Amino acid sequence: MKILLVEDERKVANLIKKGFEEEGLMVDIAEDGDVALQKVSINNYDLIILDIMLPGKDGIEVLKEIRARGILKPIMMLTAKDSTSDKVIGLDAGADDYITKPFVFEELLARARALIRRGQAIEKAQPIQIHDLVIDPVSRKVTRAGKEIELTSKEYSLLEYMARNKNRILTRTMIAENVWDYQFDSLTNIIDVYINYLRKKIDKDHQKKLIHTVRGVGYMIKE
Ligand code: CA
Repeated sequence: MKILLVEDERKVANLIKKGFEEEGLMVDIAEDGDVALQKVSINNYDLIILDIMLPGKDGIEVLKEIRARGILKPIMMLTAKDSTSDKVIGLDAGADDYITKPFVFEELLARARALIRRGQAIEKAQPIQIHDLVIDPVSRKVTRAGKEIELTSKEYSLLEYMARNKNRILTRTMIAENVWDYQFDSLTNIIDVYINYLRKKIDKDHQKKLIHTVRGVGYMIKE
């Protein structure tokens, strides 16, 4: 889990960073809006905590710019102002939550965790696309080049797992643990069989193959 904290008061920023890191959450600090926008464009944060009173661009402007770039990651506003209008402006501009300074660290942490969980749930529900293959995790519908592919429940689980880890080599052990929920040596044969089923349904009729064997290691799905 990685958090971007946009806060110009070094003392506050370091305190929050230290507290989060003790809870196993990584924190990058940006001291102004421009640095924040740079970091957001490079990194994939699970949560952005954004102070409103910043030098240069204020937090609301930064928030609007992040949303304008199509980044839907959870954002929590951190504000010294507790006027209702500030909160409304923040929420209207696309913030997911806000907390007023001074705050109790435990509350900040609890809200941060809730936002991260919600963000992950939203992300998990997004369709996954690899070349012309589209997997919709909500309906569990799979199409290739617009044509629907019928998969059994296990085939679907295997495909979704591989697709979520696209461009990564997956060993048979990883597949067994994540798709079959247990580790069992004789399962490797079953995995090979299921990969073959998927190949027939996903790749056979298409020139461009998406499922690849990494000899002696495992499998990979890539564009
Ligand atoms: Ca500030």
